[in-house]
Amino acid sequence: MLTFEDVIRITKPRFTQTSCSQCGGEFGPGDSGYSHCDRHIADAAKEMLAALRLHQAWHDSEQAGPDYGTQSRDTHPDGERIWRRWWDNQLDLCERATEATRAAIAKATGAA
Ligand SMILES: [Zn+2]
Repeated sequence: MLTFEDVIRITKPRFTQTSCSQCGGEFGPGDSGYSHCDRHIADAAKEMLAALRLHQAWHDSEQAGPDYGTQSRDTHPDGERIWRRWWDNQLDLCERATEATRAAIAKATGAA
């Protein structure tokens, strides 16, 4: 059976602060730092891709605009509601894309 000290030793990171030897960026607690920037930038690739996908989704919806079918905002009986739902979705996508971008940059650069 593990003792409390065993659990602490196993789960506690080796260093309270890790950094990159090339740029000096700090990356929080961990068992090892980075020798070169390309490694910590590569570690953020998944977050960068997620942020780019959100930006693309926002852009695609911006280009498509609200869907009124064969009608327009003025002629569709639910025109205002359709527009409002599209607009609220655009604001949400933009905010999520911006937050994802900030998180990806922070992870890539250690500037959390
Ligand atoms: Zn670096």
